[in-house]
Amino acid sequence: MELWELSAAEMRRRLDSRDIFAGELAEAHLDRIRAVDPKINAFITVTEERATSDAAAAQKRIDQGSASALTGIPVALKDNMVTLGIKTTCASRMLENYVPPYSGTVEQRIAATGAVLLGKTNMDEFAMGTSTEFSAFFPSRNPYDLERVPGGSSGGSAAAVAANMTPISFGSDTGGSVRQPASLCGVVGFKPTYGRVSRYGLVAFSSSLDQIGPFARTVQDAMDAFEATMGPDGMDSTCVDAPYAAAAARRPSMKGRRLGVPKELLSDEVSAPVRECVEQAIEKLTAEGAEIEEFSASMIEHGVSTYYIIAPAEASSNLARFDGVRYGLRVPDGSHVDMMKATRARFGREVKERIIIGTHVLSSGYYEAYYAKAHQARTLMKSQFQEAFQKFDAIVSPTSPTTAFKIGELTGDPIMLKLLDYCTIPANIGGFPAISLNSGYFEGLPIGIQFVCDSFDEEGLFSLALAAEAILDSPKASLAV
Ligand code: GLN
Repeated sequence: MELWELSAAEMRRRLDSRDIFAGELAEAHLDRIRAVDPKINAFITVTEERATSDAAAAQKRIDQGSASALTGIPVALKDNMVTLGIKTTCASRMLENYVPPYSGTVEQRIAATGAVLLGKTNMDEFAMGTSTEFSAFFPSRNPYDLERVPGGSSGGSAAAVAANMTPISFGSDTGGSVRQPASLCGVVGFKPTYGRVSRYGLVAFSSSLDQIGPFARTVQDAMDAFEATMGPDGMDSTCVDAPYAAAAARRPSMKGRRLGVPKELLSDEVSAPVRECVEQAIEKLTAEGAEIEEFSASMIEHGVSTYYIIAPAEASSNLARFDGVRYGLRVPDGSHVDMMKATRARFGREVKERIIIGTHVLSSGYYEAYYAKAHQARTLMKSQFQEAFQKFDAIVSPTSPTTAFKIGELTGDPIMLKLLDYCTIPANIGGFPAISLNSGYFEGLPIGIQFVCDSFDEEGLFSLALAAEAILDSPKASLAV
C-alpha cells in the first residue's frame, strides 16, 4: 500500500511510531497531486511551501510527544474558506485575485492542531451547484471516471480525497454540497448540526443553512476532522456550546438501532440503481440487528422548492457586497452605475440566476407569497423530522438520486440539477447532522447512503456510521487514476 492510500488514523500511528515522518508524508501527497491532479483538477491552488513548513512544525510536535489526531496529517480546504496569505477565489472571477488578510476559524483550528495544508480545492462558483461545472475556472473530474462530474459544490474536496491526494478535506454544505459529492466520489462526507462549526471566514452563501464539514475515506477520520474544528467561537454567534461526548460515539453496534426510512426518499425521484443499492444496504443493516421501519414525511416533496427560495434569497443579500466598491473585483467603466454593472456582469450564469430569483422572492408584493411561505414550509418539514426522531434513532436514505453523470450532460437542465439535492436538502432545512457513506457501486460508480440524526446528536450519528461502515464494507471499484 502506498503512503497516500492509508487512512489518516493509520498515518497517525506510523507518524507516532516514527515509521514515517511528517515531511515525507507531505511530500508523498504533493507527488500524488503532481501525478494525478492534472487529470482530476481538484485543486485551484496547491500550497507546497506552506505544506512543507507545516510538516516541519508538525514533526517538532510529534518529537516532543504533543501530537493530536491531525498533527502532521495532510488536509485541503474548499476555496470558499479564507486563508491568510493564500488566494481564496470561491471559484469566481469576482475573487480571482483575492488574498485574504486573515484566516477563518476552521483554518485557524486546523493550523493549531498541526495539520498540513496542501491547498485549496475547486468548487461551483460561490458554492452554487451540484457538479463543480459552475467553477469559473475549470470543471473537476470524478476519480472513478474522468468523463464524469465529482458532484458539487465541494467537488474538488471530494475528488481530492477519493483520488488519494489527501486523506482529509473540508467542504461547505448548504443543500448537500458535502454529502452529494461524497456520494458520487465514494467517500465519507459529513455535515454537522447547524451551529456546531464556526462559519467565521467561510464566504457566506445562505447563512441560515451553511455548515462546514469534512470529507475522509473512513468515518473515524471524518470524526477526528470534525472534532478538530467543532465548538463555540466568539466570531460566529450562531455557533453554540452544545455538549459532545466523543467517547460515546465509539461504541459501534447495529443491534437494536431504530432506523426510519422515509418513503419519499425511496420513491421514483431516485434512480433504480441507487434505490436497489440502498435497499440492499438497508437489508444488510437489518441482518445485523437494526430495526427498520418505513414512514412518511410528506414535506420532503416540497424540500427542493423551499430550499430554492430560501437559499437564493439569502444569497442575493450576501452577494450584494460584491459591488466593485466594498469587496472583490472592480471593472472600471464610466459612471458609478456602469462600473457596478460591468463588475457584477462577471458573476457566472448560475450565480446571476440565483441573485435574480432571490431578489424577486424578497421583493415587495412577492415576499409573502414566496419567502414567507417557504419559511412556513421549512418549519413544517423540520417538525416532521423532529417527530420522526421521537421514534427513530436516525433516518436513512440514499444521499443522491443518481450516480455521477457525464460532464456537460445536465448543464442545460437547471431543474434537473436542482432535483439532485432532493435527498440532502431536508437535513439543511432542519439543521440536522447528516453523513454519507459508500454503500456500493453501479457500473463502477459509487453510491452513497445517508444517515440523519436529531440536532446535536453527532455521537449517535457517528456510532451508527461506524457500525454501518463495518457492515457495508465492500471491495472498492477501481479508480481511473
Ligand atoms: N446544490 C445546492 C445548490 O446549488 C447545494 C449547494 C451547497 O450545498 N453549497 O444550492
